[in-house]
Amino acid sequence: MTDSLLARFHRSYEKKESGCWEWLGYLDRGYGSFRLPKGHKIKAHKLSWLIHGGEVQEGQVIRHLVCDNRACVNPEHLAVGTQQDNVDDMMSKGRHGSKLHKFRFYSAEQKQRIYSAWDSGRTAREIAEAEDLSIEQVRGLLSRRKVPKN
Ligand SMILES: [Zn+2]
Repeated sequence: MTDSLLARFHRSYEKKESGCWEWLGYLDRGYGSFRLPKGHKIKAHKLSWLIHGGEVQEGQVIRHLVCDNRACVNPEHLAVGTQQDNVDDMMSKGRHGSKLHKFRFYSAEQKQRIYSAWDSGRTAREIAEAEDLSIEQVRGLLSRRKVPKN
């Protein structure tokens, strides 16, 4: 990545009030696309992830987790995941279209409620029903739980 490419990258998006960095350049199926030398191109959000110190392993993709805005290149709105996550994500969005905004975003109170329900022996299914979430969402939340060190 040369300085001039980097400068071009940083000229190619606009920071929106929503927090999104909206790509002003070419869009490919909604995703920002960045031209590299020799006719290569890279998805702009992936490039942003890499520029800002993120890593991608073989078989992983960069996904929009915060905003669901394909044209967004704000690294804080991105996360690394597998292709399978993307499929699961789309499926859960498809099944629960109106719950889109709930995906992976929970208030501290809700998290606490879910954790204590889990600790008191509730199953993921029971919690999912009580919280109006999918079982996958509950499992995902529990798997990301940070256990305080003593
Ligand atoms: Zn965004």
